[in-house]
Amino acid sequence: MKSNKNIVIIGAGLSGLSVAPLLAKYGFNVSVLEKNGNFGGVAGRFSSLNFIFDTGPTWYLMPEVFEKYFAIFNKTSSDYYKLIGLDPSYRVFFKNNDYIDIRKDINHNADVFEKLEKGGGDKLKQYLEIAEYKYNTACNEFLYKDYNSIFDFLNKKILFEGLKLHLLSNLDSYAKRYFKIKKLRQILEFNTVFLGCSPDKTPALYSLMSHADIKKGVAYPEGGIYKLPEAFFKLGKELGVRYLFNNDVKKINIKNNKAVSVQTDKDEYEADLVLAACDYHHADSALLEDKYRSYSDKYWDRRVLAPTAFIIFLGLKKKIKSLKHHNLFLTENWEDHFYTIFNKPSWPDFPSYYVGCPSKTDPGTAPGNCENLFILVPVAPGLDDNEEIRDNFSNAIISHLEELIGEPVKNSIAFKKVTAHSDFKNSFNYFRGTSLGIAHTLFQTAAFRPSHKSKKICNLYYTGNYTHPGIGMPMAVISSQIVSEMIRENHG
Ligand SMILES: Cc1cc2nc3c(=O)[nH]c(=O)nc-3n(C[C@H](O)[C@H](O)[C@H](O)COP(=O)(O)OP(=O)(O)OC[C@H]3O[C@@H](n4cnc5c(N)ncnc54)[C@H](O)[C@@H]3O)c2cc1C
Repeated sequence: MKSNKNIVIIGAGLSGLSVAPLLAKYGFNVSVLEKNGNFGGVAGRFSSLNFIFDTGPTWYLMPEVFEKYFAIFNKTSSDYYKLIGLDPSYRVFFKNNDYIDIRKDINHNADVFEKLEKGGGDKLKQYLEIAEYKYNTACNEFLYKDYNSIFDFLNKKILFEGLKLHLLSNLDSYAKRYFKIKKLRQILEFNTVFLGCSPDKTPALYSLMSHADIKKGVAYPEGGIYKLPEAFFKLGKELGVRYLFNNDVKKINIKNNKAVSVQTDKDEYEADLVLAACDYHHADSALLEDKYRSYSDKYWDRRVLAPTAFIIFLGLKKKIKSLKHHNLFLTENWEDHFYTIFNKPSWPDFPSYYVGCPSKTDPGTAPGNCENLFILVPVAPGLDDNEEIRDNFSNAIISHLEELIGEPVKNSIAFKKVTAHSDFKNSFNYFRGTSLGIAHTLFQTAAFRPSHKSKKICNLYYTGNYTHPGIGMPMAVISSQIVSEMIRENHG
């Protein structure tokens, strides 16, 4: 039944796009206001010279989260896109001609680990068994719940299971208990970058990520990651959601401690409820008068920010032999790289980085005999990223890649574009240009993340990276489910 209540959502990224159909299904009149001319937010798409690039996320993990979401509407992902299983799931480079392929086949991975460390194969299997247990416990017990306080989070089950879940130890020391060889630990720890954290600051609970990327395997939506925001957008349209692009929200108007309307650079939109699905810090500090803010500047200054991304989009006029769809280069001294991100914000000299090459799986993303490369280097937020720095840093990374893969790249570049801090800030209002929000340290997990509900305004809500459960496309979708349930309970 229609409730006749108008809900205004700020932002048409994955969070805004996934929450809108839920609220429409629950009977609200839903309008989504987006400052840019298209949907997707950081999960956007652009094309040039017949190369088609996804602009942000590239790894489609935890597919069951999306299926669970689509099932709410009696749909499946296959109503919107086709998933292709990647084999190998990804390739990890350590040096030139020194790489490992991780496959969905557990025995293949166990053999790889065994070759590098005696007994490593069995240990990997044990490690992954515990990772699976943590993954299932997280999905069943705490990802889909909201937490008002630490006592909420530390319920009997979590307290009972806490030791088994390794909430209080860190991932680096946990992995060291299993493996002496650093390369093997790096394979199990690189995914902390998805959590915006370094392995020594990430709770060992998150070894569950290895279940997601090693055991469950990695899929890819044919046509690109953009198929996901496109699916949510189509779903919203089917349910009558109104999308208003090029509407830059400037203020959330409050009367008698209630949000009553949202002011954009174009118009004013009346609202019974407001849901900020944009950068939390931006909504809290730039769209509200000071007295209505939930968190002070001091609070924000004390957050551990996740890295941002230095991205190089390359269209190459040739094929590259040694790359797979997903490739990681993990540097031997990766502690130094983490140090430049979290301890002494600066441009790293010898960083680890990711290279996506979707044209290996999806010929539609590049012209014939060409290759589409997406190179992502995690870097500290808040750095100066002027043109000269971008040029020097991107050239250094491309030179390193040429050495790593043993093939020239620079002389085949048909298209090149770089995205870094200032682009994220200008395009999406990201706090200090960080593209991921706040890191998943222990004290920024679950109940410790900024609240889904405003502390001052009873009809103002938040969703996205900053809120529980946190960073990533699956988390954005789960966050949408949590907040839409809260809204339904409180105002439906
Ligand atoms: C480089 C990069 C790589 C990533 N890789 C992966 C990956 O491989 N796998 C994965 O699962 N996750 C990945 N992530 C994380 C994932 O992309 C995000 O968690 C998710 O896309 C966040 O969606 P969102 O809607 O919360 O935020 P956003 O995408 O930031 O959307 C917020 C929207 O709000 C709009 N907005 C902001 N201010 C205003 C305003 N004042 N008025 C109107 N609109 C406004 C913005 O324009 C934007 O469209 C990656 C993220 C980045 C940045």
